[in-house]
Amino acid sequence: MSEKSFDTLAVHAGEDRTQNHGAVSVPIYPASVFAFTDADEGAAIHNHEKEGYFYGRLGNPTQSALEKVMAELENGEGALAFASGMAAVSASIFTIVKSGDHIVAPGSMYSTTTNFFQYLHENFGVETTFTDAANVENYREATQPNTKIFWIETPSNPLVRITDIAAVAEFAMTKGIKTIADNTFATPFNQRPLELGVDLLVHSATKYLGGHSDLTAGLMVGSRDIIDKARLSTTKLFGGNIAPAVAWLLMRGIKTLALRMERHNANASVLANMLAGHAKVQEVFYPGLKTHQNHEIAKRQMTGFGGMIGFDLGSFGAAKLFINNVKLCTLATSLGGVETIVQHSAAMTHAALPPEQRAMAGISDGLIRLSVGIEDVDDLSQDLEQALNAI
Ligand SMILES: *Cc1c(COP(=O)(O)O)cnc(C)c1O
Repeated sequence: MSEKSFDTLAVHAGEDRTQNHGAVSVPIYPASVFAFTDADEGAAIHNHEKEGYFYGRLGNPTQSALEKVMAELENGEGALAFASGMAAVSASIFTIVKSGDHIVAPGSMYSTTTNFFQYLHENFGVETTFTDAANVENYREATQPNTKIFWIETPSNPLVRITDIAAVAEFAMTKGIKTIADNTFATPFNQRPLELGVDLLVHSATKYLGGHSDLTAGLMVGSRDIIDKARLSTTKLFGGNIAPAVAWLLMRGIKTLALRMERHNANASVLANMLAGHAKVQEVFYPGLKTHQNHEIAKRQMTGFGGMIGFDLGSFGAAKLFINNVKLCTLATSLGGVETIVQHSAAMTHAALPPEQRAMAGISDGLIRLSVGIEDVDDLSQDLEQALNAI
């Protein structure tokens, strides 16, 4: 990380006032094609011997500006921007595995990533062992001679489980296994996995990085060699790069990331404690609580505990009553925006998983996922309280 504080970097990362007539906001380049001055230049840019742009699917100056910002914020050598988080997730995996390879991944994580690993197994002969990622030993035990990737998602979606990033990365290194971390929940404000030793990280920028529930995007950040390999293979062949206007909107969102995360962290901490003391709540999952299984690891690898809380109301009926009674909170399935969002995992985000897999992922019928926004914390607390009292 540069010597500037993260808060300053969030505002100024990637900045170059000598470009674009000094425009303080990076211009949007909608061009899908870029002209060459002569045949030699055309050939050089095409062959990646000279820096430049030639076709929209392979990037444009607005996309490059965003990639520069994210590489700086995550302290990586390079970045790639995608049309969605899943485009980044799938591209990162296809950049590293081939058929016959093996992956180790958390048994409880973002459900579409779980679905993607199953799809890889059924269609491409890449098998994934799902394990309890809260215990590093399990990655070690699940390793096979053909293991190529350790997937990490910490804090995980939706149970905010914590994986010891440095310990997993350290073991992976001794085996030549690549580690990929999904840093969506933490954001670089709270956690920088590359500094803890992972090879690559991905983001659903749809969530905190965008921050306003008004865009869909993904990012991959890592070492120069993996990013270059991805740029020339998976991103070029699958064609999932971000649209220029979305790249611009995302850069605008990122400028307030530090300010927003500070409030998300503070509000979530107050609400997690309030919920933990409430008679209608059976269990609260929040890495900032001393009762969290891996609180000490979270404290070591995170500078804040984030805005995501899971809590169990004991039954499907109680969870349904709760979400039908919130007034200020929005009932929706995304997260990371300025507005507080609640959802019922068993009936919504994780409904696509068969019941036994849902059980393995720890998604109980009464689980509520709360994405704490940046509203006044007393207003939020009152809303939760009155909805809990309706149970
Ligand atoms: C939402 C999410 C994704 C997928 O991102 P999209 O932008 O929806 O494609 C991946 N990982 C995590 C942890 C998420 O929350």
